[in-house]
Amino acid sequence: MKNKILLSHVAVLTCALILASCTGNENPGLPGETAPESIDLILYNGHIVTVDENFSEAQALAIAGDKLAAVGTDEEVVILGNKNTRMIDLKGATVLPGINDAHIHLAWWGLSLSQVDLRGKNIEEIQAALVERVAQIQPGEVIRGVGWSEGSIGRMPTKEDLDKLTPENPVVFEEMGHALWVNSKMLKLAGITNDTIEPTGVKFERDSATGELTGVFHEADQLFFAHIPKISDARRKRAIVDAIEVLNRQGVTSVTDPGVASDGIALYEELADAGSLSVRVSVHLRAGRSLLEAQKAVTNYVNVSKNRGTTNNLLTLRGIKIFMDGAPPGRTALMFDDYSCCPGEKGLLLYQGENEEQQIEEIFKSVEWLHRQGYQIGIHADGDRSASIAIAALIRAMDNYPGNPDAPKTNDLRHYLIHGDLIRDEDIALMAQWHIGLAIQPVITYRAGHLLLDLWGQDRGARHMATGLFMRAGVWTSLTTDAPIVPPDWKQNIEYAVLRENKLSPGKVNGPQYRISVKDGIIAHTITPAYQDFQENIKGSIEEGKLADLVVIDEDILAIDPHRISDINTLMTIVGGDIVYMNSERFGEDK
Ligand SMILES: [Zn+2]
Repeated sequence: MKNKILLSHVAVLTCALILASCTGNENPGLPGETAPESIDLILYNGHIVTVDENFSEAQALAIAGDKLAAVGTDEEVVILGNKNTRMIDLKGATVLPGINDAHIHLAWWGLSLSQVDLRGKNIEEIQAALVERVAQIQPGEVIRGVGWSEGSIGRMPTKEDLDKLTPENPVVFEEMGHALWVNSKMLKLAGITNDTIEPTGVKFERDSATGELTGVFHEADQLFFAHIPKISDARRKRAIVDAIEVLNRQGVTSVTDPGVASDGIALYEELADAGSLSVRVSVHLRAGRSLLEAQKAVTNYVNVSKNRGTTNNLLTLRGIKIFMDGAPPGRTALMFDDYSCCPGEKGLLLYQGENEEQQIEEIFKSVEWLHRQGYQIGIHADGDRSASIAIAALIRAMDNYPGNPDAPKTNDLRHYLIHGDLIRDEDIALMAQWHIGLAIQPVITYRAGHLLLDLWGQDRGARHMATGLFMRAGVWTSLTTDAPIVPPDWKQNIEYAVLRENKLSPGKVNGPQYRISVKDGIIAHTITPAYQDFQENIKGSIEEGKLADLVVIDEDILAIDPHRISDINTLMTIVGGDIVYMNSERFGEDK
């Protein structure tokens, strides 16, 4: 109880400090406040992993409205039911707090569900999917796809791989949000030729002998997407709802969608108002690549958003995302040392500036400005050098403008890094000292296979997404999937973080010293991301008074062989007391 009071005190303090509103009803209520006659649902005969402070376990729980009214033994809880209470016998199934995927591009991934799925496919499979799509559409229609990787294809793809199959249709295939693979028809549509000069922060792949464009472009979204039809708002909303349905089936009850423009936030608000959100969404505004763009993004958002993105704990906006560098597969993540594959290449910063010095200064200014506006800042930093710059920028802002002058170094705004593929020990120590968090995606290593070792060599590659390294250093760390980069599979994420065994090289362990326990994996997918959302006092664990966000699974995740974690089935998902997914044959209902 004492703990709860303390935490809500911190939340009030934080609300006072930040621009994003805190008007949602965040009072979790007090234990014992709910009269037994208002109990709507009781789950009993279960194995409930509460993820409370002691990681204690229980057998039963009672839900009243959208909150947990009681958690305890069958004996204690079942008697709270009345004639109107729905009683579900869990038959020994395991219950976890609802899963929080604290970095997933929900809106983008939703759209990708109707695009050509390129994930994990080799060139023949991609071409087969393309032939199928061409047969379904009209000449001239743009074909979009997402998820290709150099690793799955076995080489860099080219426009020629697409051209003969698509003489009439422009094709634009996204890789991991950083690279595009297009056909000749799309190049023509975008007006890009062999003579086009690369804008700053953009990289064109060219044939090393002829200098001709290969069809692969890094950080070049704006060069192509401006030339293809905009997707309607109705379709964008539909895509979000479809994606949420998939997440609910997995047991996900909260997400952070990072880097959304103000028009996208307006769509989320409409969905929240219409009661169509069955996951809690924290949105991070997209800040652009300069101080001016960050300022514009904030102004647009404040003008467009009618309620500052905050609706009944279902939709909140406190954060903003900054993109600093690229991604490892395109060798655009900024490194201290050369990529092992490619001497002389260290990656690049994507920020505005004539040279690196100016870019870094612009990053520092943007971070400081956003910090002073009261935004939580999530910084995309893939390379070890970009992480180092991001950490230095955050520290300078927090040092110059501490939220609480009596307690500097507290990081009241809970700034954090996104990805942190590789971060040096001295920078990890600074993160811990300044309480800078991390949203990490171990599942990406699991799926990228040998590619990362090719890029970075054995020693650096073994440290990729080294979850245990961060946790043991005392960095608050959320496990996240970054879908559509990889499928939004939290079980696979925990399995990989626990085992660090490489999917593409079975049995091969990548940096075993950076493994984590299953317990830490659960914490990093529940209560830690709730902290990232400033909502650890209302969700993230199964405790009286908290929101009833739960997932029921068919195996005891704490006891089974970790190699089987990704095979666990989700049986039921509850968001705010509502059952949003149920595999009903498994349960017995008392009435
Ligand atoms: Zn991302």
